[in-house]
Amino acid sequence: MHDIAALKTALEGLAIEDNPQIVRQKSRDFFWYSPVLKRQLEDVTADIVVSARSEADVIRVLKACYELDIPVTTRGAGTGNYGQAMPLSGGVVLSLAEMNQVLETGRGFVRAEAGAIMYAIDEAVRPTGQELRMHPSTYRTATIGGFIAGGSGGVGSINWGGLRDFGNIISLKVVTMEAEPRVLTLSGEDMHKVSHAYGTNGIITEVTVPLTSAYDWVDVLVGFDDFAGAARYADAIANQDGILTKEIAPIAAPLPHDYFLRHRKFLRSDQSVCALMVAPFAMDAFAAFTRRQKGAEVIYRSDLASAEESKGLPPVYELTWNHTTLRGLRVDPSITYLQVLYPFPDHVQKAVKLAEMFGDEVPGHLEFVRFDGKITCFGLPVVRYTTEERLNEIIRIHEDLGCPIFNPHRYTLEEGGMKQTDAVQLAFKGEADPKGLLNPGKMIAWENPDFDFSAEQTFLFPGLAR
Ligand code: FAD
Repeated sequence: MHDIAALKTALEGLAIEDNPQIVRQKSRDFFWYSPVLKRQLEDVTADIVVSARSEADVIRVLKACYELDIPVTTRGAGTGNYGQAMPLSGGVVLSLAEMNQVLETGRGFVRAEAGAIMYAIDEAVRPTGQELRMHPSTYRTATIGGFIAGGSGGVGSINWGGLRDFGNIISLKVVTMEAEPRVLTLSGEDMHKVSHAYGTNGIITEVTVPLTSAYDWVDVLVGFDDFAGAARYADAIANQDGILTKEIAPIAAPLPHDYFLRHRKFLRSDQSVCALMVAPFAMDAFAAFTRRQKGAEVIYRSDLASAEESKGLPPVYELTWNHTTLRGLRVDPSITYLQVLYPFPDHVQKAVKLAEMFGDEVPGHLEFVRFDGKITCFGLPVVRYTTEERLNEIIRIHEDLGCPIFNPHRYTLEEGGMKQTDAVQLAFKGEADPKGLLNPGKMIAWENPDFDFSAEQTFLFPGLAR
């Protein structure tokens, strides 16, 4: 049992929420995308939620929790998918949503508090003609700190790669979980210590990230008779260096028609679609290029659509990445999804082969990205879920074909990632969180150094049984 009464006394004056219903709600993220995580994590809840308004508040919370041995799980907007922001051992959920100021905009960079929403950052920097290089499809709700600690890339990754790539984060201010919390500024090589570490080894309070030129991006849907046509077109336009795009996502029939309800008026149920964001100045080139592609039919362009046609439509980026799955879940709560990497240079061939192999059990959804300088694609295919055994079989078939799965049905860093210990993150946890109180249960290497990743076993965090 955590001594919450003593903690409340120590934190007097801070914004503390202890209403069990609100605490439970703020202890959840989008873990329910996965039927496996839904079963495992349904009852997870913190004891209290504390909202920090400044770095000094964060330091105060960490110092008090360290003294009382109370776990702390950081929360941005709680849009993560794998129970990342869920407090498996209870304790405190530390919300950074109120630390949301944009602090400085310069040529090529912005500095902001970690709780700033990405859409709001772009609004703030837009007068300078700039915007963030990349954002998740949760742009309008997710925080920049949550994206860096839990996300990987998204809209814009076709040009800039992912968050893991050097240069896509400039520097981070991080608070450690010690008797006397330290405030560190990390940059360059050190960034890997905390980026995509789920807040297990430090709390990011401030970020500096690069900016690029801003455009009034044109939303486009191009229709195809089959998924293979959409995938080949996506690859071809992604490789057109002169046509500036920000998003390229082929999605197999019948998903666009069945899930994109507001766009349905433009779609046939047998039509696969490539969803794109294209720079306004490139629209003539885009149209000329697309006209040459066999079977491509431009079915929607936001720059040519009438106000009546565009009324009520969500932006194209909210049809892509994990918004495709979200829209699907609203129509059919029994589906789930996978995250796949189709390695260059056989990415299209492999993606099409797998889509054809599984047919309507695993309809294809690809996201084209630049990966180590090459154009390739990730997949977030929908899975018409039957059993956990079948889901694991589908995963195995992908991996046997050389397509790694970043398993969205696991809550640990390693199982959702490269399935190996990240020695840099582990070592930093030893320094920055010696008692292991930050987001417990998410880093297997810390909880069980002997865990055998090759044995295909699932890690079960003992603290979850609480
Ligand atoms: P949270 O969910 O609150 O936190 C994410 C993780 O980071 C948690 O482990 C949390 O403890 C930790 N954390 C949060 N803030 C901090 C901090 N300041 N310091 C240390 N640790 C912290 N992800 C992508 O990468 N690309 C996408 O395109 C994408 N699309 C999505 C679409 C949908 C519909 C959904 C539901 C999810 C999507 N995601 C995507 C996952 C998620 O939205 C992103 O990772 C998002 O950026 C998380 O931001 P957040 O503020 O909600 O973070």
